[in-house]
Amino acid sequence: MFGDPVLKQRAAEVTTIDGKLVKLSKDMITTMYSAAGLGLAAPQVGVQKRLFVYQMGEDDDPAVLVNPVISEARGEWEYEEGCLSIPGLYFPIVRPKEVHLTGYDLAGREVSIEADELLGRMVQHELDHLDGKLLLEYLDKDQRKAALKELRRRDVEGDKAGRKMVSAGRRDRADDGWEL
Ligand code: ZN
Repeated sequence: MFGDPVLKQRAAEVTTIDGKLVKLSKDMITTMYSAAGLGLAAPQVGVQKRLFVYQMGEDDDPAVLVNPVISEARGEWEYEEGCLSIPGLYFPIVRPKEVHLTGYDLAGREVSIEADELLGRMVQHELDHLDGKLLLEYLDKDQRKAALKELRRRDVEGDKAGRKMVSAGRRDRADDGWEL
């Protein structure tokens, strides 16, 4: 959750893929589903390891990417981006439109992914989490002030409105942006 210092640290490379890591990945997929997110990075559940889970299409299997690295980025794309660690807030953020990334699956096989638009956005967002960078760092001063004020207000009043949005269901919100 927002405010957790783990979210601001660089996560460590995964050195061993073992049963513990597999279990962590499964737990993260469960968390991602229950939060109606499209992707979830380990630091978001308080674990300082370089891996994230994601599911793009409704019929796709959820996937795990270990030690991901972006090797190429192209173009520009603005997208209303949200984050599971700051639920209910969306910001129009420009990032490269396409990225090429490599990493490993849980069997230790090298994976190479060409990621465009929403997939590209998701992997860049999750990579940021692994580097300890939050969405708020992309905002200008006034936007960030407004966002922090809103987060503080919710802390005081509880987070009913935000929670409602989050539990509204995965596919309903595809047009409004995704929390990543
Ligand atoms: Zn996020």
